Amino acid sequence: PGVGAPATGAPEVAVVGAGLVGCLLACFLARRGHAVTLYERRPDPREAGAGRSRSINLAISERGIDALRRVGLDETVLKAALPMPGRMMHAPDGTLSFQPYSADGRRAINSISRSALNRTLLDAVDAFPGVRLRFRHRLTTLDPETGRMEFDTPGGPAAAVAPVIIGADGAGSAVRARLQTRPGFNLHQEYLDYGYKELTIPARAGDFALDPGALHIWPRGRSMMIALPNPDRSFTCTLFWPERELAELDTPAKVERAFAENYPDAHALIPDLAADYALNPIGHLVTVRCEPWTVLGRAAVVGLIGDAAHAIVPFYGQGANCGFEDCVELDRCLAETGDDYAAALLLYENRRKGNTDTIARLALDNFVEMRDKVASRAFLARKRAEHLLERALPGRYASRYELISFSTVPYAEVERRVTRQRRWAAVAALAAAGMSAWAGATLRNRLRPEEPGPPGRGRSRTGRRPRAERR
Ligand code: FAD
Repeated sequence: PGVGAPATGAPEVAVVGAGLVGCLLACFLARRGHAVTLYERRPDPREAGAGRSRSINLAISERGIDALRRVGLDETVLKAALPMPGRMMHAPDGTLSFQPYSADGRRAINSISRSALNRTLLDAVDAFPGVRLRFRHRLTTLDPETGRMEFDTPGGPAAAVAPVIIGADGAGSAVRARLQTRPGFNLHQEYLDYGYKELTIPARAGDFALDPGALHIWPRGRSMMIALPNPDRSFTCTLFWPERELAELDTPAKVERAFAENYPDAHALIPDLAADYALNPIGHLVTVRCEPWTVLGRAAVVGLIGDAAHAIVPFYGQGANCGFEDCVELDRCLAETGDDYAAALLLYENRRKGNTDTIARLALDNFVEMRDKVASRAFLARKRAEHLLERALPGRYASRYELISFSTVPYAEVERRVTRQRRWAAVAALAAAGMSAWAGATLRNRLRPEEPGPPGRGRSRTGRRPRAERR
């Protein structure tokens, strides 16, 4: 057996971070019969008084649902979700326009509460006898050679050793920070010069103040705001604005004015805007690319998963979906390698890295699309043409959005397929243009002798007779 697969007993695995991905991973590993200890720096979010987490809600689509389905949690999670089959654009003058996400208008991404999802996953983890949960354990250091970890806990420093350690501790991963000090570890971090703020549109007279069947977008070129519905009939808005301009909104009057100018219809729906604005800190957006995700020590193997391995910006709504897909792939690799963690983590990294690099790039590109292009006529025409092709060629043509959000086709394969489709569509368009030019010319030639001639027939527009007549 390889590292982490002792000759006797179940493999012992330490997962650092009980966020969305760490919890789901623990379910997959526990289901394989492995002994998992989950370390989390925060208190148990199921306890009363636990602090609120980063963003309030998030959109889960097919990749995330597929992963949840495999551990029997999809129905529980979807029961509390609000389906959003399209985006609702808010023009500056308040005009609304709805764009369905799929050709048939029926496929939806799902707005779910991040904390409710985390609690559901923790309950599922708790139900496995082989899992131990260690809250208020902040990893401070780790030796990848020996598998020794040290933690800050309310009772003082604590230590533990594990032959397999998986860092699921998010974009600012402490596990990754320890690997980073080793020669050969490459890290690329790219902060967007945009920050974000979360705000709430409360329920109005007990009902949703906006249509709950859509992801709402206020595209304003340089900035944008989005809003996702919550089960309590409120909406969580996320405002994305250049950092410097956000910092300048430092008085209630400036906040009110900025909203009245840029988002007048939303402004009218947030009664305590300035207070709400002051409540939440400015969040930052980072893309993290690093490698290797797997480090083989003398007596331990350390791997990275989820945002710890590949944090991405949120503009394709794929961060958590992608992290959940990591869990599916690692589980598959463990099955293929007979639970040899060293081999499985290397195989998983090999299969996932190209895919996560692809979605990182697409997420950055989609920011420009969401804040700017979605409002343009060219964008709407392209979407209509894509949906037309999807309906005309079911199973043979699918848009990038459809493949990313409503399928589990690997991200890199989506890009190859979209490139092939675009090439094919360009050839088809050229052929169609050629055909219509040829048909037009043929028709003109056929019609010419029959046409009743205008006075002075036989003369060209210059007044000169055609060359044949002249001869
Ligand atoms: P995290 O959720 O960050 O969890 C990491 C966990 O590790 C935390 O519980 C943390 O407390 C713990 N931890 C950290 N350090 C330590 C330590 N030293 N010791 C012990 N524990 C530690 N994704 C989507 O799929 N759809 C969306 O619509 C979407 N919207 C988003 C909107 C915003 C504004 C943002 C910022 C992100 C969004 N995402 C979305 C991305 C998504 O939130 C992340 O991809 C996802 O949370 C990653 O999960 P994770 O478990 O890898 O990391």
